[in-house]
This record gives sequence, C-alpha cells and structure tokens, in this order.
Amino acid sequence: MRHNIKPARLKPRWILERCPILICGLIILSGCATIYNSATGQRETLFIDTKAEVSLGSDMAKQISREKKIINDPKMQERLDKVAKRIAVVSDRQDLRYNFNIVDEKEFNAFAIPGGSVYINSGLMGAANDDELAAVVGHEVGHIAARHSVKRLQAVLGYQLLSSIALGVSGQKQVFQAVDVVFNVVVLGYGRKDEFLADRLGVKYSKAAGFNPRGMVTFFQKLKQESKNSGPTLVFLSSHPPIDERIKQAEGEISVLTP
Ligand SMILES: [Zn+2]
Repeated sequence: MRHNIKPARLKPRWILERCPILICGLIILSGCATIYNSATGQRETLFIDTKAEVSLGSDMAKQISREKKIINDPKMQERLDKVAKRIAVVSDRQDLRYNFNIVDEKEFNAFAIPGGSVYINSGLMGAANDDELAAVVGHEVGHIAARHSVKRLQAVLGYQLLSSIALGVSGQKQVFQAVDVVFNVVVLGYGRKDEFLADRLGVKYSKAAGFNPRGMVTFFQKLKQESKNSGPTLVFLSSHPPIDERIKQAEGEISVLTP
C-alpha cells in the first residue's frame, strides 16, 4: 500500500547474486500471448507467462523470508486469511494461488510480489479493522491482477532483448538490471497510474467480497494521521499520489458502486 520499505534492507541485487538460473528459466519458459485483462479492461501482450511469474515470485519470497521477520501467529494469520481469502476469490485473476503473510514491522505498510504473495505489516493489521484490512488486501491483489510487476519487467526488458537472450545472442546483464528495477518498483510503489488503479480494484473487490468499501477511505485517513505522526521520512510521500487525491478517488468509486 505505502511500499515504504527501504530498498537497501531487501538487497535488490539479490537476483544478480543468487539466481542466474532463475533468469534463464524465466526467459526460456516464456511464450507470447495476448489476453484480455478484466482488471485493467485492456488487451495485453504477455511474454512472461504465469508459470514464469510464479517461479520468479517464489524466489523473491524466499529472499524476503530471509531478510524480514515473518510472524507465525495462528490467531493473527487466521484473521488475515479469513479476510484475504474472500478478496482472493473475487479477484479478476484466478490463474495463480494467493497467499498472505504477516511481517513483523510497525509501519503501516503492505506489498505484493509477482506470483500471488502478499505481505502485510503487523502494525497495519493492528490499526486496521476488517473492512480496512480488506481494502488494503484488495489494493495488493489488484496489483497482482493487473500484472503491474510483470508488465514493468517486460517494459524494462523489451521483447527484442528477451528474444535475443533466449537465442543466446545477447548477454544477461541487462536482464539482471531490469529485474533490479522491478524489485525496487515492487517494494517502493508503482507510480501514480498503477496505484490509482490498485485503489479502484481494492474498492471493487472489498464490495464484491461483502466488506464495507468505505474501509479504503477510513484506512487512508488513518494513514494520513500516521504520516503526520511519523514525519516526512516516509518514501511514499514523495513517490505516491497524495492521500487526499486517493481518498477523493475512492469516494467517487464507492458512490458509483453503492448509489
Ligand atoms: Zn500499491
């Protein structure tokens, strides 16, 4: 949601150091297909398929579990799963398995990685009621459904480069650099357009799952208050759409869904 994780702590160059085989697999596994994506309402050409995305996500998840403390508290996990699974079943994207993890950090933060894994900080879970938690999960599931990370990786790489690497013509340096870029995007936020779309999908999924979609608005209000308390050090303040604009959009979306 806020993606204000410090990139240095997640060592974004991990793939370069540890996963050259994964990158080869990513390239070799990929086909090229044009699909209609109901999350974005657009036809999209994908040359990183779901299998390759899940494989990439699985390695990212392993790295995250080494560098962040994942909480294994049955009661908290039960609450998160109860809310999140209702969101997952109404997601526009059903070709992968979602899973939800709790990170032992106080900051109001959440993020999703390619392949279906979502991470929610314990501080956010403690501050949010179920409607607000559903909105946050919906936002993150929205990023996955819209394939934001995959499309970013594709955009950075380019089909030409991928093809030449698959044929053994070009080096892998550019691929490593591109995956680094995407890793930073995943943890720091996707930019204005993608964040607004994820907010809209969060509202849509919350409503479809039977939660009060106003949870998105009240969560943003809590976020706003929290950012006042925390000061200007939060990364999302400089890289994300202003919270007031996000509140305004969410309210507009809710009024359309619940006239
Ligand atoms: Zn986001």
